[in-house]
Amino acid sequence: MRGIAFIGGDGPPPDLCRLLVEEAGRPSLLAAADSGLIAAEAAGLRPDWVLGDMDSLGDLSRLEAYPPDRVLRCEADKDYTDTELALNLLWEKGCEEVWLAGGGGGRLDHLLAIRSLFERERRPSRWITAGEDVRSVEAPADLNLAGAAGSLVSVFPLGPGPWEAESSGLKWPLAGLPWDRGFFGVSNAAEAGPFTLRAIRGRFLVIMPLPPSPAAGGGKVIIDGRAAARKIQDGVKARCAALRERGTIPCLAVILAGENPASLSYVGAKEKALAEAGMASRDYRLGEHVSQGELLSLIETLNADREVHGILVQLPLPSHISVDSVIGAVDPAKDVDGFHPVSVGNLVLGRPGFLPCTPHGVVVLLREYGIPLSGAHAVVLGRSGIVGKPLANLLARRDLNATVTLCHTGTRDLAAITRQADILIAAAGRPGLVSADMVKEGAAVIDVGVNRVPDPSAKKGYRLRGDVDFEPVAEKAGYLSPVPGGVGPMTIAMLLQNVLQAAEGGLYV
Ligand code: NAP
Repeated sequence: MRGIAFIGGDGPPPDLCRLLVEEAGRPSLLAAADSGLIAAEAAGLRPDWVLGDMDSLGDLSRLEAYPPDRVLRCEADKDYTDTELALNLLWEKGCEEVWLAGGGGGRLDHLLAIRSLFERERRPSRWITAGEDVRSVEAPADLNLAGAAGSLVSVFPLGPGPWEAESSGLKWPLAGLPWDRGFFGVSNAAEAGPFTLRAIRGRFLVIMPLPPSPAAGGGKVIIDGRAAARKIQDGVKARCAALRERGTIPCLAVILAGENPASLSYVGAKEKALAEAGMASRDYRLGEHVSQGELLSLIETLNADREVHGILVQLPLPSHISVDSVIGAVDPAKDVDGFHPVSVGNLVLGRPGFLPCTPHGVVVLLREYGIPLSGAHAVVLGRSGIVGKPLANLLARRDLNATVTLCHTGTRDLAAITRQADILIAAAGRPGLVSADMVKEGAAVIDVGVNRVPDPSAKKGYRLRGDVDFEPVAEKAGYLSPVPGGVGPMTIAMLLQNVLQAAEGGLYV
């Protein structure tokens, strides 16, 4: 019997999942972890076993749909335990041969770790990493593809052997691989030039990242945060409907102290999105002069209220109130803003917990656009506790694997640093701070800043402007997120996701 484990790195494309299941021949055991589960489900497959990587930024609440005795949880941050667990599980279940299928992710270090695992165990296993471009080639034939420099290419034998192939443009030549034993997997790293495969005997599947994005070819991509957020909100809405059927209506309590116009507008937008997703909200509008004691006692009541799943205290608070005391009073299990010290600690340590919405939204946006994070130099401009610092920590986590530089007003020669950024994230609250000469050609620039600048021609007397000087930077950047319509909608989408997770109880079980 063969077993297949669909594992992380964005998961293999659904077509590939289906193809592998066909190819493996039933009955085959499926295990899935992290984004592999999403991939398997998208392919219409229901894994026998599911494996949750608790370090992951993925959607672990999906595990709840499986019987508890079929769910394994692990922390894969350190040594790819999810992969080892998946392999061991399938071996224990009597699979003589295990195939691991994961997303591309560009993780050469991951590939090498898996390869050494295979070498150590010396049991038949294959590692099939997946880009989005899947081609089948039957010998005798030559395949020529544009290079996907440094990323992973898989060449996978299909159908009955024997197989023989040779290649150019790959780090390790394919010729002479023990295809029939498959110990070494068949993934490889592309060199800078084109990749060619000569299939001498047998049929092969070639999986590699999609051709370079328009940005890499000099085109410019304006990131559509509204569309990305809509996708997330649609998913939240569907899961919310399922939860309602089981008798739970996710509910967020929103506390607003004072009449800050920007806060009023944020709270309004959040409540509208909650209603659209089929969630309930409770609105607590307190006056500017509310005392700290009153606010704390309201939070205490909401902490104890079982119908309230999340508590959001809109910042800023009036100056006589201690923000730290208020945030610290929220039950961490209801801390859907991710600001509580427990949530912050979990984030830094790479443990499961609520992620703060804006930083998480930025990461999801980068991933949505396929912007490579692993090994990229990310420069974060701003070190606030709600954006810059958590974002820098997230990006540096092993599963995202970026190299991060965190800048602030004490940074010397800011432009010299930002010009090194593959990914530049501006969260300084200074309109137009990032000029074109601070940006490297082709970089991905994410503008978190939301600044109201006076504009007599606008109906409201002001317009919103980001921290990035939009037009000139758009000429130079590979990707640029606009303001409005970039990070803002993602913040709301991630909030809804957190409320849903709180209602599903997914994070603290
Ligand atoms: P913040 O608390 O004021 O922090 C700003 C950070 O930027 C500080 O660390 C500051 O450095 C740094 N900074 C300011 N000017 C700088 C300069 N000239 N050079 C280098 N660093 C500079 O602001 P925040 O709460 O993080 O918010 C930042 C921006 O994001 C604001 O425009 C805010 O409205 C926006 N925001 C948007 C969303 C959304 O959903 N889209 C959510 C939250 C915030 P020091 O630490 O040295 O002072």
